[in-house]
Amino acid sequence: MDFRLNEEEQAFQNEVRDFVQELFRDILPPDFAGVDPGPEEEAREDIEKIAAQVWHRLGAKGWIGLGWPKEFGGQESESKSWILNQELIYNGIPGMDIAACQGDLILQFGTEEQKKRFLPPISRGEVKYAIGMSEPDVGSDMFSLQLKAEEKEDHYLFNGQKIWNSGIQRTDWCVVYARTDPNAAKQHNGISVFIIDPKSPGVTLRPITQITGLDAFCEVFYDDVKVPKENLLGEKNRGKDVSMYAFSIERSYGMVILHNARRYFDQLVEYCKETSVNGQPLAKDPLIRNRLAEMAIEIEVGRNMGDRINWMTGQGMLTVIPGCQNKIYGSRVAQKLSNLGMEILGLYGQLDDTSKCTQLGGRFRHMYLSSRAWSLAGGTSEMSRNIIAGPFGLGLPN
Ligand SMILES: Cc1cc2nc3c(=O)[nH]c(=O)nc-3n(C[C@H](O)[C@H](O)[C@H](O)COP(=O)(O)OP(=O)(O)OC[C@H]3O[C@@H](n4cnc5c(N)ncnc54)[C@H](O)[C@@H]3O)c2cc1C
Repeated sequence: MDFRLNEEEQAFQNEVRDFVQELFRDILPPDFAGVDPGPEEEAREDIEKIAAQVWHRLGAKGWIGLGWPKEFGGQESESKSWILNQELIYNGIPGMDIAACQGDLILQFGTEEQKKRFLPPISRGEVKYAIGMSEPDVGSDMFSLQLKAEEKEDHYLFNGQKIWNSGIQRTDWCVVYARTDPNAAKQHNGISVFIIDPKSPGVTLRPITQITGLDAFCEVFYDDVKVPKENLLGEKNRGKDVSMYAFSIERSYGMVILHNARRYFDQLVEYCKETSVNGQPLAKDPLIRNRLAEMAIEIEVGRNMGDRINWMTGQGMLTVIPGCQNKIYGSRVAQKLSNLGMEILGLYGQLDDTSKCTQLGGRFRHMYLSSRAWSLAGGTSEMSRNIIAGPFGLGLPN
């Protein structure tokens, strides 16, 4: 295995690093400490504005959907796509969006008309997408979902509810999973997937405030919502295939979590180098040095796990099990790091970015609260462990 970048990839990484410097110069506030990737922090008005500008700039550079075919605005390069994401995530740049992932689903399952209609606006940075899977009693066991989509003459009629749809208040489309055959012998055979405009008549969004204080997600109510038939993604009643593909994408989330954690960690190390408590430099405290060194090992291990997944993907190998391992590991490392940061910062760790006494932009307080979600979002750690134990991993019977 050789994880080194080739010449072209190295040149692209340099280009991305210049782009990030440009963003720091033109768009980001001077004291910007970075935000977590994903739509949750875009609930802050200032971050939403920055994210929109970044998204447009990425589109203008042709850097959204880099792995897609050229005819849909891509460059057919998965490695470039990952290099870009890694740099944006490490620098905490807002605007990294799940739209491109939903575009992957459209690329895989969409008709030619759907690809022509939905992909170019994503790659130009004009639209954003949300995900509509979870329901009040449906999370891990998503095949028991109940949102009803009845087939009518020229549309499907939606009735029911979704929950935890991240950032849907600010998106143009949502990829929604619904029950189209309530009588299917096996539950997973009665599900279909649709691309829905959340502003359609009959859709009501009710924001939910997360532990971080942000309106990160929404409950979504569908009351007699008409969805055109041409918005069905994939075959009717074969939504399981789309969902399995979507899960396989989300499991690479471990790499996202780890590269985000690297930024927090590096900031914490700098803080320890610069800070003294009671006249004693933190950097000379044996316990702190020890714990930072331990953390550095764990982050490096996670990073290597991620590089291996990328390498395997490049070789056309299946990455379901390493993806699950990395997701569990990444969440654990991030949660441990947030604890360490809070302990080192002491009482300052509890202050948010509105306090004049805050340290490191109040980011560890945010991370301490938000990292709870990382072992849940995109499939819980328990479900990932079930996959590792099952037929594709250890081979234990289900
Ligand atoms: C930050 C964040 C963003 C999210 N964004 C979205 C989004 O945009 N769109 C969307 O649709 N959803 C979203 N979700 C919801 C997410 O997909 C669900 O939280 C997840 O699928 C788990 O479902 P649940 O919360 O209903 O937990 P449940 O499935 O009810 O599980 C509860 C607990 O029981 C455990 N458990 C359940 N079944 C088993 C089992 N078979 N074996 C062992 N343990 C089990 C789980 O691991 C968990 O600890 C988001 C969640 C978070 C935290």
